Amino acid sequence: MDGIKVVSFDVEGTLVTPDYSYAIWFEAIPRRYAEKNGIDFERARAIVEEEYKKVGDQRLEWYDVWYWFKRLELGVPIPVMEGCRDKVYYYPEVEDLLTSLNGRYILSVASGSPRDFLVHLLKDIEPHFAKVFSSVSDYKQLKTPGFYREMCQVLGVHPEQVVHVGDNWQFDVQAPTEIGIRALYLDRKGQPNNEHSLVSLAQLEQHLLD
Ligand SMILES: [Mg+2]
Repeated sequence: MDGIKVVSFDVEGTLVTPDYSYAIWFEAIPRRYAEKNGIDFERARAIVEEEYKKVGDQRLEWYDVWYWFKRLELGVPIPVMEGCRDKVYYYPEVEDLLTSLNGRYILSVASGSPRDFLVHLLKDIEPHFAKVFSSVSDYKQLKTPGFYREMCQVLGVHPEQVVHVGDNWQFDVQAPTEIGIRALYLDRKGQPNNEHSLVSLAQLEQHLLD
């Protein structure tokens, strides 16, 4: 890939395992809901999951932990987000990769997670990034082509000078590709030799060299 200046990363499922989010959405929130309503955990979890489904991941509220704490009448989410920090795990190749790329490329983050989450999710790796973009917090939108266009403007680069990598086909591949960013699909459960996707970020450097 010639002329690449910026390497942009999705966060959840790409740099960070889903454990932190899972602990919040499917453990901590149902637990609080159960305590507040005097019902057992499994029942609470079923109710909460049903509420999540009613909104769905194409709406901004889906990603907004403040919205959910209000909707479910659970108070303030800050202690829960802090309490789950020990569930932030990076994929094993991440630290070495970021260290290796740093200095050769501008590294940035393009996440659909709200900034409240990102401060925890990026706790150990944030110094690697020149810029962290949260589509929902900064631009009140999902990771749309428009979001990526704004990102390029802020970074002062043309879309063709950016590689973005992430694990969601719609948000990390289709949307950036639409404006000319070179997008790489991370499919950690995919076939190792599929030329259209990566199974690990360890393959990213080779793609950049190709
Ligand atoms: Mg992701």
